[in-house]
Amino acid sequence: MKIRLNIGAISEPLQSEQFKTGDWGTEWSFVDREKCTACRVCEQFCPDGCIEVKEIEGKEVAVVDHNYCKGCGVCASVCRYGAIKMELKELFKVDVC
Ligand code: SF4
Ligand code: SF4
Repeated sequence: MKIRLNIGAISEPLQSEQFKTGDWGTEWSFVDREKCTACRVCEQFCPDGCIEVKEIEGKEVAVVDHNYCKGCGVCASVCRYGAIKMELKELFKVDVC
């Protein structure tokens, strides 16, 4: 009997991009491009390597790949310029009367 496990196990190096994991978290991280100084601290601390400084419209800024961001908030807590905000995903927003 064959059993097929369809899980995101990484069995070989350089495979992780095949497994999009961004749906796991309840929050997203967003970068305020005006506040970002491109210091790269968030890049070094993100446990998933999904925030990266890139050049956008002539300015270097941190960019989050939401396909992989788990919403852990580490990037927001290490950014000393307050350039990263965590926002609850729409799915988890509840109207309170
Ligand atoms: S830590 Fe903050 S200021 Fe530094 S690159 Fe990341 S978002 Fe930009
Ligand atoms: S919230 Fe976590 S996973 Fe997402 S970019 Fe920040 S440090 Fe990386």
